[in-house]
Amino acid sequence: MIELIGVTTRKDTQFVDITSEVQRVLDRAKIEEGVVNVFTRHTTTGVVINENESRLLGDFEKILDKLVPRGAGYGHDTIDSNAHSHIRSILLGASESIPVHEGKLQLGIWQRIFLVELDGPRNRKVVVQVIG
Ligand code: ZN
Repeated sequence: MIELIGVTTRKDTQFVDITSEVQRVLDRAKIEEGVVNVFTRHTTTGVVINENESRLLGDFEKILDKLVPRGAGYGHDTIDSNAHSHIRSILLGASESIPVHEGKLQLGIWQRIFLVELDGPRNRKVVVQVIG
């Protein structure tokens, strides 16, 4: 089964913890064993798994700024001025797969699933597919 999660972002760059929403989709699917794929349909977002600690999320934002600065002479900026957002998106990736055992996401104690907004604020859709 497949469901969409709607996410409204409020900042240019924002880590949105969607773990609870993904677990709710899994609960509705009523499977015990399998895998959940979490996929973003957008070219200026990412899906990542990491720790939800506010200073660390700030560190991630700083390193994205440093690695891929805004307006560094990119070709795409001549038509859309958000090349940095697309480039950051390919570094983060568009999906994550999480194993499911006994109906639960097999995340480690500190692991959370994030939609990463890289060109906000916007309304976003995340695809959650439960296979099992
Ligand atoms: Zn663009």
